[in-house]
Amino acid sequence: MERRILVVDDDPMMLRLLTKHLRGANFEVLTADNGAEAMHLMMAEGPPLVISDWSMPGMTGLELCKNIRQTEGIGFVYLIILTAHAEKERVVEALNAGANDFLAKPFHREELLARVGAGMRIVTLEADLARRTRELYKANAELAVLNLKLNKVATTDELTDLPNRREGLKRLRNLWENALHEGAPLSCIMVDIDHFKRCNDTFGHESGDRVLREVARTMEGACRRKESVCRLGGEEFLILCPGQSLEEAAATAETIRRAVQDHAVQLETGELRATISLGVAGRNERTATADDMLRLADEALYAAKRAGRNRVHVAGSRPSMPAEPATVSSPA
Ligand code: GH3
Ligand code: MG
Ligand code: MG
Repeated sequence: MERRILVVDDDPMMLRLLTKHLRGANFEVLTADNGAEAMHLMMAEGPPLVISDWSMPGMTGLELCKNIRQTEGIGFVYLIILTAHAEKERVVEALNAGANDFLAKPFHREELLARVGAGMRIVTLEADLARRTRELYKANAELAVLNLKLNKVATTDELTDLPNRREGLKRLRNLWENALHEGAPLSCIMVDIDHFKRCNDTFGHESGDRVLREVARTMEGACRRKESVCRLGGEEFLILCPGQSLEEAAATAETIRRAVQDHAVQLETGELRATISLGVAGRNERTATADDMLRLADEALYAAKRAGRNRVHVAGSRPSMPAEPATVSSPA
């Protein structure tokens, strides 16, 4: 328990008397004979309990109370005012100035120690409260960090670090609501890696994982800031293109297709180039919901697959001729 007490009195006799009683009760006593020195000791030593005379030349006990209460950096202090005037209205004045208790002169040793004991109990409670508040703040901060981590885990695909299916579909629904509200265009692109099973079969599952990660990163790199690439599952991805018309999203899809085709994945066995097929759909009068648009994009993706893979198919358009062959192959 804290045992430090600052005693302030301009009367040396009173200082000696208080010091004697308090030391006799095992308290550690600091003394000051004026308010300025008391403030200095408060800052330097930070005793949690102060007994101060009311009437002192210079700074009075009341002014000292106010000063202690107004000084930032001084923690909780229990203040007892020593007064010769025990009249009620003066006590109110002392309490209003920030004092916690008062002691009328002349006092008995027992009353002094009882009031100091009561004060020290409050000091201990206050210190406990401060410690618990600190612990609570710390626990809250830790919880906030954990929540962030939890949210990241819940919304992120572990392998590719892209937004996962749940997060992707949530973003799609949000964008759909916004686009509907603002009458703005919205498009999406469904992506599937071509002949990916072959990649696993030929190079192994770990190489397959590496291809997935690199295709994901390449697609992200080819996207603009507003577009987001999400992993729907397996080797399927969804790219959201807010504000883009069907034609604009088709151009975006073609840029991404090319970027993936041009990227060489370095494997221990050599380099590998993967290709992707893409289906593009946009919000229009035939799409009542986000799911309708998603279905159109999915159908467009399968049209791209049927037409030979490694290509972009736009919902509602005729199938095109293959631009380049679809590959998951090494040149070796
Ligand atoms: P298509 O061109 O028609 O899309 O052919 P595909 O072989 O890519 O399609 P299919 O759906 O037959 O095969 C997908 C393969 O993707 C099968 C599955 O084992 C593999 N796959 C799914 N998820 C993962 C994964 O996380 N890591 C790895 N390495 N392979 C995966
Ligand atoms: Mg595939
Ligand atoms: Mg697939």
